[in-house]
Amino acid sequence: MKLDLSSAIEEISKNGGKRILLQLPDGLKPDVFSYFTELSKHFSVIVTSEAFYGACDIGSREVYDGVDYIVQLGHSEIPNIEYPKPVIFIEKRIEKFPEIPDSAYGILKEKGYTNIGLLCSIQYLDMMYEVQRQLERLGFRTVIGKQDRRMKYPGQVLGCNFSAAHSISGQVDCYLVVSTGKFHGIGTQLSSDKPVFILDLNLRGIEDISGETDRFLRRRYARIFQARDARRVLVVVDSKIGQYRMRLAETIMAQARAMGIEPVLIVANEAKPSDFENMMCDAVVFTGCPRVPIDEEDKFSMPVLTPQEFQMVFGIKKSPRYVMDEIVAVDQLN
Ligand code: SF4
Repeated sequence: MKLDLSSAIEEISKNGGKRILLQLPDGLKPDVFSYFTELSKHFSVIVTSEAFYGACDIGSREVYDGVDYIVQLGHSEIPNIEYPKPVIFIEKRIEKFPEIPDSAYGILKEKGYTNIGLLCSIQYLDMMYEVQRQLERLGFRTVIGKQDRRMKYPGQVLGCNFSAAHSISGQVDCYLVVSTGKFHGIGTQLSSDKPVFILDLNLRGIEDISGETDRFLRRRYARIFQARDARRVLVVVDSKIGQYRMRLAETIMAQARAMGIEPVLIVANEAKPSDFENMMCDAVVFTGCPRVPIDEEDKFSMPVLTPQEFQMVFGIKKSPRYVMDEIVAVDQLN
């Protein structure tokens, strides 16, 4: 599905923009010629091939300094980031929904759940409202949670923010996450005591996420356990605009010193295993995207922990349950 650039073209033209930087996630790169040609009819365009991860990342200053606008495809804006250039986000939404049979929701009835909290990743926002209509027709009550200032839409979750789930935890019997893949479901489960199900659009069925969550926790606790004797630790700040948490890193530095651990503060734009290995550390505390320590754990020879995992392993913060790292706000990059 090709994204419609017309509103971006209109806005940039209206404001006199001449030079634009185009950012495409890997999934949209096969259409780069078409997007480039369309935008080049109106502006001087340059496409960045730098890897980027979401609206939290607009690339390096050297690349965007010379342009009037950045056009980023695929993601939704993170409203509480102060972008140094005007950025236009063109979201990728799935428009054609697979038909979900009513019987797919049978598991919710069997379990006696009547109040369902609905969540989704951005591509499935419209689909979430379709599912809401279907569930209400079947007699369920649905609730879509209010998001915090990092998120654009009610019900929307990101791998670093589950505020829409927290906001309704007292009102629902369970959550249903409209998505593909497991991460958003696992993240929701780790942020809540309520059962979580994924509506997997590829399978057109509902899946209980508790088994996956248990496997996830076993893997993370193994990493946390490995870090318990660490004496030399890198505390890494990611310099991406929407991942920059210097104050949190400084807190971790102070906590590490207080525990008799030797910390080194690192700033990086990529979490590269070889960089960390060369620094001969026992463990890394990564304050950037919370998905890096989790999704990429196999790439690293040393344990790479989230700030919460670090606080857990050294008893700095006690919690009866695993605490997911979530980003609410970031520090201002100079
Ligand atoms: S911090 Fe990670 S999960 Fe959050 S928007 Fe960026 S890439 Fe996505």
